[in-house]
This record gives sequence, structure tokens and C-alpha cells, in this order.
Amino acid sequence: MSLNRLFRLISIALLMLFLAFAVALVWTEWNTYRSGANSVPALRNLRLALLAMEKVSAERGPANAFMAASPQQAEATMRQLAVARQQSDAALTSLHAALEADPRLRQSWALDKVRTVEQGLGPARANLDRVARLDADHRSDVLVLAAVAGMVDLMPLMIRVVSELSLEVDRADPRLRDGLSAVRATASLREYAGQVGSRFVAPLITHRQLVQDEVIEIGRLYGRIELLRGVIAAQLAGYAGRPEFAAAVERVDKEYFDSGFQFLDFLLQIGLHSSSYGVTPADLYKFYVPQMQSITDLRDLLLADLMRQAEQNNTRARSLLVLVVGLTLLACLFFQLLVVLIRRRVVQPLVRATDLVAGLVEGKLEQEIPETRHRDEIAGMMRALRVLKQRMRERTSLAAEREALITQLQTSSNTDFLTGILNRRAFFAQAAQQMAVAERYGRPLAVLLFDIDHFKRINDTHGHQAGDLVLRGAAQTAAALLRKVDVLARYGGEEFIILLPESGLEQAGSVAEKLRAVLALTEFDSEQGQRIRFTASFGVAALQGGEGLDEMIRRADLALYRAKRSGRNRVELAGIEENGQ
Ligand code: GH3
Ligand code: MG
Ligand code: MG
Repeated sequence: MSLNRLFRLISIALLMLFLAFAVALVWTEWNTYRSGANSVPALRNLRLALLAMEKVSAERGPANAFMAASPQQAEATMRQLAVARQQSDAALTSLHAALEADPRLRQSWALDKVRTVEQGLGPARANLDRVARLDADHRSDVLVLAAVAGMVDLMPLMIRVVSELSLEVDRADPRLRDGLSAVRATASLREYAGQVGSRFVAPLITHRQLVQDEVIEIGRLYGRIELLRGVIAAQLAGYAGRPEFAAAVERVDKEYFDSGFQFLDFLLQIGLHSSSYGVTPADLYKFYVPQMQSITDLRDLLLADLMRQAEQNNTRARSLLVLVVGLTLLACLFFQLLVVLIRRRVVQPLVRATDLVAGLVEGKLEQEIPETRHRDEIAGMMRALRVLKQRMRERTSLAAEREALITQLQTSSNTDFLTGILNRRAFFAQAAQQMAVAERYGRPLAVLLFDIDHFKRINDTHGHQAGDLVLRGAAQTAAALLRKVDVLARYGGEEFIILLPESGLEQAGSVAEKLRAVLALTEFDSEQGQRIRFTASFGVAALQGGEGLDEMIRRADLALYRAKRSGRNRVELAGIEENGQ
């Protein structure tokens, strides 16, 4: 696998892994934020439920007073009861509407219970009104107890509603759990305080002693109230540094426990032994009920604080979410940059360098080796590659020079240094080729030998340099006269040889005659200004079937010898007679 591909795969795998982590983190924070956002509406619902519970509970005060009212008091207590009923109806309607508006609670148990309470209130109230309208003599203990119980029995339903809505708050933000417990404890305290008060209504109305069951029930409620007092004190330990909470608790202690509760205790002590309480249910309602206000005040203080905490937690969760998303995006960007950087500065240059090295190995010396902007190891490698390329270039040019030198040497070894025409060795190499062609295709071939006459005399008379000049002149004259295919060479000292392809004896003889005539007519000027004329003798032979090159030259040489003997400056053709000699 190529480095490029490997790197891309690893980058993609790492990015996927990183994105998975990022998504998990963002998802967790998002969920915390989302569920936290429900805490404030859930607390609002809880507040409505607590208020409704309080109002339904509070309705019992004027109701009890109404049942016990004398005909003179009836009008006033009825009005108070109507107001209380209106308030509890309004509180229930608000709660009902809020639960119905919340999509998650529309189908809940809580709403069912609220409906049940709303439906139950009518018969309970009607029953109560009936008992109240009876003559004092007919208002029996059993009827009064049943009327009170009809209202009290609705409370467990309201307590269930509060529990369920508390659970909603707890689900949305578990950090609110402690405060929520304190709120529920104060709400329960208010409820039990109301219930224990209601226990005295029937004995007060019917002017009788407390029966054993009532004493037990009051004792049980006392126990619960004491227990809740302890629970609230423990729950509020977390608010130690908050003077407003300390003040609210102090008010509960002073107004409810020191005053209201003491009053009930006083009634209990009487009710255990006699029926002369000296107190009417209206007195109980007037004195006892306002003392419970301190409990609901504490509850509201706790609720307000919970609301503030919930909002704070929401804001914090939102900020944390924004921070996590921002950091994740930043990290993603950084990761992407890192990948691009490694790719550009390491992987791609490495791949490029590999291609360059492969190119150099193949001899592509013209390829450009790029300059890098950065001073890093890759730049060092490119520098090294440039040096390598330079060395390879030098070596290649050296090889080319050597090649040229060899060619030059070859040329000079084939050339006669004085005249510039072929030497004897080169002549035989070329003649052998022409010979092979002529033999294979049965083509004519002739050879011409000529030797300068009395050359020794020219040397002697004009000097050796003049002799050289004559040799050069003879070669030039012959070369100018010949065809391209003819092979002219210096055969010996002042002896030349010419091979004439595609020429018979006669044709070669006329070439020889022409050259002889030109040479004889030409005047050569020596360096000393003397005019030199000379002649040459020619021997010509044409290829005969079956003979070799040496044989043909030997015959031409014999003809030349004949020409010398016959007086020089002439052409002799080799005939049959030469064969035998
Ligand atoms: P003939 O007419 O019978 O050919 O007489 P010749 O004098 O030409 O022949 P000979 O063989 O007696 O003399 C040849 C001379 O050519 C001898 C030698 O010194 C001279 N010679 C050979 N090579 C060169 C050369 O390269 N330069 C010069 N200047 N002279 C040369
Ligand atoms: Mg000679
Ligand atoms: Mg000679």
C-alpha cells in the first residue's frame, strides 16, 4: 500500500474515532441541558400542585367552622367558606390547565388524580353543607365525622399528585433532590397540621370527650409532625449560611410549634377527661389556622430557592454545552489542519522524493527538483537529491566526452594524417564490403593504382615539404574527380589506390586516363614560390569471376609496373596476361 493511501486511511480512521468521542461528549451535555431545561416548568407545576393541595386542605377550616356555626354566625362563616372554596377551585383549575398544557403530563396519573379530586370535591362539599344545615340536635357526631372525613379523604390523592410532580423535577435535575425533599416535608407538615386540627372539630361541635380512636389518631399525627420537624431541620442544614431560612424556621418554631401546637395540646389535655373545652370550631379556625401560615411561607421560600437553583443549573448547562461544542469544533478544525500539514509537509514530499529518485535511476536528469520553503529534513533530502542529480549529470557528460573521444580516435585511425584521405587499413575495411556486394550480386568492380613518377627527384629538388605538398595536391585532385561511392586511399609513400564500384575495366581505364591528364597539366606552387609539375603512372584492373580483392590489386600493381617500364605518365589496363604472373 502506498504511503499516501496508508496515511489517508489512518487519517480517516482517526477522524472517525475522534468524531465518535466528540459526538458522545456533545450528546451527554446536550441531554443534561435538555432534561435540565424541563426542571423549571416541572417546578412550576409542582408549585401549582402544592398550592392546590394547600387550598383544598385550607377549605376544611371555614367548612368546619360553618358546620359548628350558630344561626347568627352562619352568614359570615358561609361567606368565608365560599371564598375558600373559590380559592381551592381556582388553584385546582390552574393545576389542571398546566398539566393539560404539558404534553408529557397530559396522559399522566397526576392529571387523573386532579380530576378525581375535582370530581370528589362536589359530593364532599354537598355532604358538608347538608350536615351544616341540620339543627344542632340532629347534627350527630357520626354525621360531622363523615363530613370532615369526606374532605380529608381527598388529601392522599393530592399527596400522590405532589409526589408524582416532585419526581418529574427530580428526573429533570437530580441536583435539586435535597431542596425538593425539604419542600415536600414542609408541605406534609402543613397537611398534617391541618389534619390534626380537624380531629378536634367533631368533639368541639358535639361537646363531647375525645374517644380512644381519636386520641390514638391525634397521637399518630403528633408523631408525624414531630418527625417532619426533625426532617426539615436536617434538610435545612444545607442552608445554614442563609439568614432568611433561619428566620423562616424560627417563625415556624415560634408561631406554629410554640403557639398553634401548644393550643392543640391544651385542647387535647381537656378532651382526654372532659367535654368543656370553652372553645368553638370558629375559635379554632380563627386561632389555629393563621399559625400554619409560617409553614407555607417556609415552603414558598424553599420553592423560590429551588426555582433559582434550577435556572442557575440551566444557564450553567447551556454554557457548558456551548463550551463543549465550541471546543469540539475547534479540536476538529485543529485535527484537520494537522492532517493537512502532515500530508503537505511529510507525506507528499516523501512521495515526490521517491518519484524523483526513481526518475534519476531511470536517467531523467532534466527533471526539476523543487525548492522547499521550510528548513526541515525534507528540504535537506531535496538538497541531497540536487547534489545527486548534479553528480549524475557530470558523470553523464564525462561519458559523452569519452564517447566523442573514441569516435575521434577511430576517425583518426582511419585517416592518413598528411593527405586527410583514408589510410591503407581503412581502405581494406571498406573495400571488403564493396567486394562482398559485388560478389553477391555479380556487379562489376574495378581498382586503380597510381604512383607519382620520379617523386624522389621532387623531394631532392624542392625539399621534403614540397614533396608533402605534391602528395596532398595529388590526393585533392583525385578526390575532386571521383564519385561519392568511389573509395580513395593512400596506399603507400607516393602511391594511391581507388576502388570503383559498378565500374568495368574500360570505365575505370577512362577515369585513370582523365586523372592522369589532369595531374600532368596541373601546376603546384611550393611555399618557396616554385612551380612544380609532375606526372603519375596508372595500373587498372577489373574484378574477374572467382578472384579475391588481393588478387585484383596484385594485377593492377603489375599493370602499374608495366606503365612505369613503358616510360611512365601512362595508364596500363591489366589483362589476362597478368593472371599467370
Ligand atoms: P619512380 O618514377 O620509379 O616511381 O621513381 P621514384 O623516385 O618516384 O620512386 P622511389 O621508390 O625511388 O622513391 C620514392 C620516394 O618517395 C622515396 C621517399 O623518400 C619518398 N617518400 C615516401 N614517402 C614520402 C612522404 O611522405 N613525403 C615525402 N616528401 N617523400 C616521401
Ligand atoms: Mg613508389
Ligand atoms: Mg614513384
